Amino acid sequence: MITLSSAGPRSLVVTEARLRSGTVVDVHCAGGAVAALVPTGTLPVPPDAELVQAAGGLVTEPLVDAHLHLDKVRTLPLIGDAALQAYTADGMADSARGIDLARAVKQHYRLDTLLPSIRQALADGERHGVLHVLAFADVDTAAGLTGVQAVLAAREEFRGRVDISVVAFPQDGVLRDPGAAGLVEEAMAAGADVVGGIPWIEAGASDQEAHVKWACALAARLGRRVAMLTDDAPDPAYDTTRMLAEAMRRHGLEGRGVACHARALGHYDEHRQIALLDLARDVGLGLVSDPHTGSVALPVERALERGVAVALGQDDIEDAYYPFGRHNLLEVAFLAAHLLDMRSAPQLEVLVDLVTTSAARVLGLSGYGLREGGPADLLVHHAARTVDLLARHEPPRVVVRGGRVLS
Ligand SMILES: [Zn+2]
Repeated sequence: MITLSSAGPRSLVVTEARLRSGTVVDVHCAGGAVAALVPTGTLPVPPDAELVQAAGGLVTEPLVDAHLHLDKVRTLPLIGDAALQAYTADGMADSARGIDLARAVKQHYRLDTLLPSIRQALADGERHGVLHVLAFADVDTAAGLTGVQAVLAAREEFRGRVDISVVAFPQDGVLRDPGAAGLVEEAMAAGADVVGGIPWIEAGASDQEAHVKWACALAARLGRRVAMLTDDAPDPAYDTTRMLAEAMRRHGLEGRGVACHARALGHYDEHRQIALLDLARDVGLGLVSDPHTGSVALPVERALERGVAVALGQDDIEDAYYPFGRHNLLEVAFLAAHLLDMRSAPQLEVLVDLVTTSAARVLGLSGYGLREGGPADLLVHHAARTVDLLARHEPPRVVVRGGRVLS
């Protein structure tokens, strides 16, 4: 016999919720948690509970965006197309030049110009059920601390609705951009959550190693996680994902690292791919792929086969690197179905994992998951089948956070 805790004003019941396993259940929420998840109709609905009728629609965990450049959203009109052209030309052969050109946008950085776009992106995400975001904010000698301050302000505004983990991200490198390392330390002191890095942008292997070492040492000293952009070019000479994995072990950061993009892995031979993926698994380095923002992607399915935690990320929204983006992670998964060639029924389930449970693993989220005793955070979808969830990638009918209906 399951006893529900007192049915106060925050109790809520979702009836006829179709789990991805196919089971249809009622989800009883009380005190911000899932108090019971039982076959439909087996537990009476408390008379004062808020009722949400899923009517056989899929009910899932909230969506997770494991990589978003949040300070840059909707900045493309400020600098024009040159950086985007350089980043994407010739199969990303000279993507680093695109990054250098994109630096010009930061002359426009002011809190009052950045915040409206950041708020809009987070509100769009919330409407699409994206309730967890790993948000990168540029911290460098061009942006100063303005970008990270804007993202930190938005984190407070959305607290309790959308969880935002802020990465202090030295977009132009730390050896290439003297002064950036000190600014990252200032950003961490100001409240950023995660130490960022982009080692592949540095000139040569020894500077790349130095970059990785600097970031991992800082994260270890502060007791934080690291999140880096690695090897964002189709060139197998790039090797910074491995450098990161090995540095995590040396600095005691096992299970606390994320590598985004890592596109060069797609050009490694099979033996080298497997060796690196096994290393990533063993040190708990999660990988984030964004196949829609570039012409190459890390080998997602092989990474999953080797036991690596993998996620998809929105990456960019109308910025110098990508002209689209609605902060809809089901849309990202839909695009990935084509770009990663994953369209069989089991692969569609994996794609949903990549923006929910697997992404939560990449980010090390505690308190995530649709289960008794878990948080009362869930999405009620129109679709009753996974194929429709992805094909239509509509906003959910109902978004529930902490047992309350958000939208
Ligand atoms: Zn990115």
